[in-house]
Amino acid sequence: MNLCQFPRRRYTVGNTPIEPLERFGALFTGYHIHCKRDDLLGLAGGGNKTRKLEFLMADALAQGADTIITCGAIQSNHCRLTLAAANKEGLACHLVLEQRVPNSYDRFAGGNNLLFDLLAVEEVYVVEGGTDLAAKMASVAECLHTKGRKPYIIPGGGSNAIGGLGYVACAQEILQQLYEMDLNIDAIVCTSGSAGTHAGILTGIYGNNAHIPVIGIGINRQKEAQRQAVYELSVKLAEKLKLPKAPDMEDVIVFDNYVGEGYSRVTEGMLEAVRLLAQTEAILLDPIYTGKTMAGMIDLLKKGYFNNLKNILFLHTGGSPALFAYTEAFWSK
Ligand SMILES: *Cc1c(COP(=O)(O)O)cnc(C)c1O
Repeated sequence: MNLCQFPRRRYTVGNTPIEPLERFGALFTGYHIHCKRDDLLGLAGGGNKTRKLEFLMADALAQGADTIITCGAIQSNHCRLTLAAANKEGLACHLVLEQRVPNSYDRFAGGNNLLFDLLAVEEVYVVEGGTDLAAKMASVAECLHTKGRKPYIIPGGGSNAIGGLGYVACAQEILQQLYEMDLNIDAIVCTSGSAGTHAGILTGIYGNNAHIPVIGIGINRQKEAQRQAVYELSVKLAEKLKLPKAPDMEDVIVFDNYVGEGYSRVTEGMLEAVRLLAQTEAILLDPIYTGKTMAGMIDLLKKGYFNNLKNILFLHTGGSPALFAYTEAFWSK
């Protein structure tokens, strides 16, 4: 795969590390667990959206944009990082925030919300859960056009065929690192949200004929809807990369039983997983994505799901700033 054919900005120096989780891994006899530290990517606070934004911002600049519009939940890491990338490029940024849990938006909340303010977002539009976010962003763009501005819309999570290239690139980076570390991985575990990360990794692994299963832990949608979203984006990525064939539907593995009551809602498993990683490895997970993904991985390890897949790579996609919007759930009694 030739990723150099696509324009790209750079927001991280070098590769993110792959680290053994020795104290955590010792809890699961027979397994060797490593972590790909994409929480250490560049831009304010790091996380997986940084990789997608390398390609998305390059496209926005190529189109002569002066303002970026994107959307997300009220504690969106994607919104924080898009705003950060816009600052880095000297562009303005408008955010459409979906209040998925009624009355949960607080202008003075901490976490990512504080960072929207610190990074000086130009405009925030808070809309009710279920609002057509694409339509709302289109109307914001329309309004900016009439003022002579040149807006560029990035979809939620940056998960389109341009943003997804960031995780195709990550798959290549992982394979090269594993080769240099002389480490043969049997499975990769990642969060499956707006699907760009899961689809990008899957397509990148597939495009390299690496045959490593990618296990996605859902944090929102039900299993079949999530598998469909990952599959459709993988097909688009495979087309863009001119692969002879896209990954098969049967390669799209998703678990949806770690979501709890819904997106962004606290679960016991998440709290335990976040505490465990902090206390054994000094790694901060997040309450919405990686905490639930790790809870899923722990449960699957305990149930023997991985069986003879002994070498597991957990992809840490970031999000720790959101911990500071969940202080009540985390304070130990
Ligand atoms: C957005 C996000 C994810 C999910 O990635 P998608 O590409 O949207 O599936 C996982 N972890 C964190 C911390 C995120 O912010």
